Amino acid sequence: MPSKEIIEKSEKELFKLMFPVSSPVVKEACEILSDLIKIDTTNPPGNETPAAEYCKRLLEKEGFENIEIIESEPRRGSIICRWKGSDSNAKSLLLLAHLDVVPADPTNWERDPFCGDITDQYIWGRGALDCKGILVPELMAAVYLKREGYNPKGDIVLCFTADEEAGGELGVGYLIKNHFDKVNVDYVINEGGGFLLPFGKDSKDYVAQIGEKGVAETKIRVKGIGGHGSMPLKPDDNALYVLSKVIQRIAKFKPPIEIQDSIKETAKKISLPGIVKKILTSKRLIRPALNLAGKLFKQPLSKLIIPLVSDILNPTLLNAGKKVNVIPQYAEMTFDCRILPGHDRETIKGYLRKALGKKLFNKIEIIPIEPTQLATINSSKDLFYDLIEEIMNEMHSGANIVPMLSSGSCDTKFFRSKGIYCLGFIPLRLDPNMSFSEFIELEHGTGERMWIPNLSYGIEFCLRLIKRF
Ligand SMILES: [Zn+2]
Repeated sequence: MPSKEIIEKSEKELFKLMFPVSSPVVKEACEILSDLIKIDTTNPPGNETPAAEYCKRLLEKEGFENIEIIESEPRRGSIICRWKGSDSNAKSLLLLAHLDVVPADPTNWERDPFCGDITDQYIWGRGALDCKGILVPELMAAVYLKREGYNPKGDIVLCFTADEEAGGELGVGYLIKNHFDKVNVDYVINEGGGFLLPFGKDSKDYVAQIGEKGVAETKIRVKGIGGHGSMPLKPDDNALYVLSKVIQRIAKFKPPIEIQDSIKETAKKISLPGIVKKILTSKRLIRPALNLAGKLFKQPLSKLIIPLVSDILNPTLLNAGKKVNVIPQYAEMTFDCRILPGHDRETIKGYLRKALGKKLFNKIEIIPIEPTQLATINSSKDLFYDLIEEIMNEMHSGANIVPMLSSGSCDTKFFRSKGIYCLGFIPLRLDPNMSFSEFIELEHGTGERMWIPNLSYGIEFCLRLIKRF
């Protein structure tokens, strides 16, 4: 493990930072993050209000005004703090992060998932990265500037919300629907990007999330003939046999590759040889080439890239039968389905028709679960994008910001769907003790922890962003 001294030395040489890991601001940020991790906001049930209240107390102590906690349901609070700018015509910026976290099963954790332990290099616990570890740099940068007596030109809005991990309807979704004036801004920065791509030790390619795939959770129901478990039934009359055929066919089906503008923008900007850029934008070559390269370089390349050029269908839930001696009348399978920009439920229906064939397709009923969330995307061609690149270049000489569609979904979609320009970007460097694949498994995984130098990096970035905005 590199010692603190080595980290500080490399920071001095490589990154021109105001806040080395031992500075009081970073120490304070570590404690705030630790406190927030200790407030269990596992969603479900969420219970974000105590975390929102913690942030409110802190902001009030620092002299911020216009702070409000809005609950969509009891204990499902989101906090908005509008730091008024001096010029009402200047552009406004909202720094977004969510307060809730995904569940953590303590049996698989080295430490209690809600311990918030601060060790030599890490702050441990659920939410350390996703997303309390993004919230803290945003908060700390504003606090630091307020203490300095800084007055922003345009409004700066801090917005820390409930329910992101369950789709966001009770958090940002609720705010946009019911209190849009309070969160209406020109630009939004959020989680979803900022990490360094794993191109060797000297990688300078940081990902900026310019869009999110859509979500179309779907249930398939197969109807059979119920009966007594002691009697024989033709396999085609047993819903479970039919459903198992359906699952097998879906497993073999590969949704088609589609080269959209977003992957073209990614390929154009990414620091990879021309041949690789060609492969990334080749409908025919991308799948086999990624499989091969993934094996050669031992990196999960297909897992990362294929979702950017294709819809993804993954069966996740099964439901059939209530009693061992009763043949069920229904069998159901639910699958997670992530769709590219421009796609919708009709696209999924088309896939199922193709994968199952006419006969099997006619035996299924397709049931949408949640309302479809269409993909949202903005281009990388914007002054805000250029500003992020400029700031990153000051912090990390040669930094190259690569636009990318996100295979997942977060709260930014609600703002994008209102036509607001959004980027997922809070910079994170790769912890030298970790491989890239280990790092990406930490979010929602076991042993989630924030590498303290990344906390200092995030504060520095947010501070420069607010100041230069
Ligand atoms: Zn998150």
